[in-house]
Amino acid sequence: MNRHIARKRFGQHFLIDTRVIGAIVAAVAPRRDDLVVEIGPGPGALTAPLLQKLDHLHAVEIDRDIVARLQQRFPADKLSIHAGDALAFDFGGLAAVGRKLRVLGNLPYNISTPLLFHLAQFADCVHDMHFMLQKEVVERLVAEPDSADYGRLSVMLQYRFVMDWLFDVPPESFKPAPKVDSAVVRLIPRCPDELTARDETRFAALVAAAFSQRRKMLRNTLKDIVDDTLFTRLGIAPSARAETLSVADYVRLSNASPGEWAGNQPPASVMTGA
Ligand code: SAM
Repeated sequence: MNRHIARKRFGQHFLIDTRVIGAIVAAVAPRRDDLVVEIGPGPGALTAPLLQKLDHLHAVEIDRDIVARLQQRFPADKLSIHAGDALAFDFGGLAAVGRKLRVLGNLPYNISTPLLFHLAQFADCVHDMHFMLQKEVVERLVAEPDSADYGRLSVMLQYRFVMDWLFDVPPESFKPAPKVDSAVVRLIPRCPDELTARDETRFAALVAAAFSQRRKMLRNTLKDIVDDTLFTRLGIAPSARAETLSVADYVRLSNASPGEWAGNQPPASVMTGA
């Protein structure tokens, strides 16, 4: 079979650095009977060493040429390939009673933000996730309030997961080399009673509205949702800006805001990060 030519539209940058591959597998530390799904296996840089440690692995891959190669390379009883778009994949469908999913991948950077929002919906059936991402996305994921990187992605993902920045990866570790630096991050779902928005659609819409114009005062961006008395009651200045509130502040605001939206219903995109 000819060598696969990397496709830009699928964000294909294949790992060639054996030390980085080894470090990712070591960070995941798979046990034989773990229920693991790899997003975007590509030609198998991570898939092969993972399969040495696992009885079985699931993989979600959109590129049909790569799917055909994987089918030739790995036996079907070891690797279950789900050909299709990870953005539409029902990860919850793979989890079983008492068996949570371990999700990992060197993600296609062109869809990493919507993919993280998609995956966040399955946090309840996930044990942990390990991802290679653009370093700039990891900076946004782990950002704290009052920093330039803190935004909607930080709040929505920190609401669901505790995150650990594991290590950085330079462009030369991939072929073709991306134009950006990368990093590997671990995400572990939070205990559900740690931070709970009673209505998660409302919470997502509130966060989306707050960060829609991050330089504006919350009194203005949230005027259809929260009135000044509620801000004051919760000890939040109505003149504050979106980036100054913690995740817990957003949960408190969402839980305390009145049942009816004064303005429009939240747009469908609030749950997808679109
Ligand atoms: N895991 C391989 C490696 O580390 O060398 C490949 C990583 S490459 C950065 C991203 C992979 O994700 C490619 O195989 C690409 O075809 C696949 N991919 C891109 N978009 C996808 C999508 N929407 N759903 C599933 N896989 C996708």
